[in-house]
Amino acid sequence: MTDITDEQIERYARHILLPEIGGAGQAKLLNSRVLVVGAGGLGSPVILYLAAAGVGHIGIIDDDDVDLSNLQRQIAHTTERIGVNKAESARQSVLALNPGIKVTVHSERLTAANALELIGDYDVVADGSDNFDTRFLVNDVCYFSRTTLVSAAILRFDGQLSTFRAHQGGANPCYRCLYPEPPPPDLIPTCAEAGVLGALCGVMGSLQAAEVVKELTGAGESMSGSLLIFDGLATEFRKVKIKPDPACALCGSPATITNVYS
Ligand SMILES: [Zn+2]
Repeated sequence: MTDITDEQIERYARHILLPEIGGAGQAKLLNSRVLVVGAGGLGSPVILYLAAAGVGHIGIIDDDDVDLSNLQRQIAHTTERIGVNKAESARQSVLALNPGIKVTVHSERLTAANALELIGDYDVVADGSDNFDTRFLVNDVCYFSRTTLVSAAILRFDGQLSTFRAHQGGANPCYRCLYPEPPPPDLIPTCAEAGVLGALCGVMGSLQAAEVVKELTGAGESMSGSLLIFDGLATEFRKVKIKPDPACALCGSPATITNVYS
């Protein structure tokens, strides 16, 4: 590809060697825009691997500041940056790793008011948020803005991963096809309440970054229509099929929540 420099050929040589990526795939990555929701346990490895991979424009949204208790797992941050906004802290790690990347820091909370405008700017969204309100919002807005969503979740020793592109129709479900409604508050504990293995964030976040790269380059098979479940205590992966739910409030027919965020 004419727009790859000699330095980029050297930096990305191990990707370019892969027939499934090659020079054309690397050029796609360099021209891609990915929004990472949450610069925490999952967001940290996602952001670092996407930056290393040369995803040309990475948006990071997080309204939280780095806390000492984050550093057991959130490897995009440092002890020195305790108190700094997490999106800004992650930006500094990205630029140290790969100064050729453009990073947009969104040091705000993703809300129904700003989500459409924010998400519509990106090719793929990687959701590593830590609460169900944000997960459902991201899913719905990705659907309306026809943006592919790679989603992961973690708790204790357990992780889940899938890709959602229900906007393409066919056999592609959305997050609501899997989980129709947010669970009642307090039913599912948070990582702050129940704990999480630090390295589990690396396992699931690395898988999430790999799936983002696959979606951007078209390499391999998409995780759309599949849910990957990781049991970190047994060290077992399970991949199960998930189908679109005809009664889904978002992507079913007729959709019943189409105007919620407009
Ligand atoms: Zn759905």
